[in-house]
Amino acid sequence: MALVEPTAREAGQDFIRDIVRADLASGRHKSVVTRFPPEPNGYLHIGHAKAICLSFGIAEEFGGHCNLRYDDTNPTREAQEYIDAIERDVHWLGFDWGSHLYHASDYFEQLYAWAEDLIRAGKAYVDDQSQDEMRATRGTLTEAGTESPYRGRGVEDNLDLFRRMRAGAFANGARVLRAKIDMGSGNINLRDPVLYRILHTAHPRTGTAWCIYPSYDFAHGQSDAIEGITHSLCTLEFEDHRPLYDWLLDNLPVPSRPHQYEFARLNLTHTVLSKRVLTELVRSGHVAGWDDPRMPTLAGLRRRGVPPAAIRDFVKRVGVAKANSVVDMAMFEFSIREHLNKKAARRMAVLRPLKVVIDNYPQGQSEEVEALNHPDDHAAGTRRLRFSRELYIERDDFKENPPKKFFRLSPGAEVRLRYAYFITCREVKKNEAGEIVELRCTYDPATKGGNAPDGRKVKATLHWVSAADSRTAEVRLYNPLFARPDPNPADFAAELNPNSLEVIDDARVEPTLAGRNSGEAVQFERQGYFCLDADSTPERLVFNRTVGLRDSWAKIAGI
Ligand code: ATP
Ligand code: MG
Repeated sequence: MALVEPTAREAGQDFIRDIVRADLASGRHKSVVTRFPPEPNGYLHIGHAKAICLSFGIAEEFGGHCNLRYDDTNPTREAQEYIDAIERDVHWLGFDWGSHLYHASDYFEQLYAWAEDLIRAGKAYVDDQSQDEMRATRGTLTEAGTESPYRGRGVEDNLDLFRRMRAGAFANGARVLRAKIDMGSGNINLRDPVLYRILHTAHPRTGTAWCIYPSYDFAHGQSDAIEGITHSLCTLEFEDHRPLYDWLLDNLPVPSRPHQYEFARLNLTHTVLSKRVLTELVRSGHVAGWDDPRMPTLAGLRRRGVPPAAIRDFVKRVGVAKANSVVDMAMFEFSIREHLNKKAARRMAVLRPLKVVIDNYPQGQSEEVEALNHPDDHAAGTRRLRFSRELYIERDDFKENPPKKFFRLSPGAEVRLRYAYFITCREVKKNEAGEIVELRCTYDPATKGGNAPDGRKVKATLHWVSAADSRTAEVRLYNPLFARPDPNPADFAAELNPNSLEVIDDARVEPTLAGRNSGEAVQFERQGYFCLDADSTPERLVFNRTVGLRDSWAKIAGI
């Protein structure tokens, strides 16, 4: 499948790329094979984008390939919906696994055979202890664990019990297979870790063939070995698991010897990058779904109008390091803004309309004015907009009693309507409640196009739409999902920003906005970047604000 947006990507500089480069130079590896191993139990988020850009990026830069491998060892949490979403999102981000699509479940038979090998070598045993007993005897960071009374079981006994586990002779939780390593190890992962557990649950791919499933740790390194992964890249929380992976690889007749390298996870302010929390947000209805534009999921960002190139660029700027850190959301928005500023077409939309009537413009008359689609890109061309006697401007662009430096419209003031004419406010109309409902203005017919032949200047240029030709639209303004920069994931519901979504339902937009592709962002002049939402119908346009024009985070974060 073709890349969504081909870009030239040259190899970057970071400690992992340095290792890859050295391994290729020394001949340790002839080519590089990486993998991205999602568990299909949720949608991908921007943290995953970092892992994807790294593993797929390195494969691409060094002429190797990257496998997409589902870590589908826990059938209770996996679903086809997640598999479909993962593939859509990786492609959207601009990467492709070609024919290299794999599943840990493809290796269940091989993994089982290797487990028997360990038993035969006296390196694994069936433990009859309950989960609670095992937890109680595991020890702590400072105290050694206690050996299981079943640890001394003979090979034949272990083989027989393990085969009966596979055959379905025992209930869930009755027994497990454990590696026999060292209950006194300083690394808890080496204290006889569980390799297999009984789970009488059908698997999306293997159906009812299995009622025992390998642990994530038992599947991970061996799957890498089967696929000939040269550089197995994952986040720092797996660093302490590496000795176990290495122990398994050293003690099994695996076809290759992968090496794992760990890098820091991406953390972002004002959001939570944890599938568990994101799943809870969806289930509890705090957001409208996985693709709610407030979500840090790739599906949410796409719906919000964020271009995939901006995500790749952001990930590149963040870089790959070994120390965990939290990246300011402002940095992500900077990347988004930078891309959209170059690419997005300009349009006029009035979010909070205030009616303007041009008294000296003839009733029933209208005319076309020409507007630029992009001020810096003349190839983007122009479009024609209808100017007429009744218009809308932004409510905020008028003040009856303007403070000193307010140069926009006020009684007696003259401003430019972009691409059209100079207008002057002559009268303010109010309703019984004293609210301003209409401005009566005059225009200067000599200023067509927005310039005065006598050279007089105005200090403000306002966007506008014609009352008769504009379309009403719903506009959804998104604010951070979490008000504080560092929400506590343990109590995330209490940390949600009650104002994360602001809906305007009577915005007015120029008619050219009706026929656009959803997801493709445009700039509403002087407002920000917006895209048509998939909820739009021919009768009702719905827009999402992708990002404002300026950095609003500095204010939110108090910096
Ligand atoms: P969670 O902990 O939120 O459930 P996960 O890491 O368990 O997420 P996986 O599907 O197992 O989700 O992740 C696939 C890969 O993405 C893993 O290799 C993991 O290291 C990587 N990854 C997950 N979150 C991040 C992150 N925030 N930054 C960088 N890489 C990440
Ligand atoms: Mg995981």
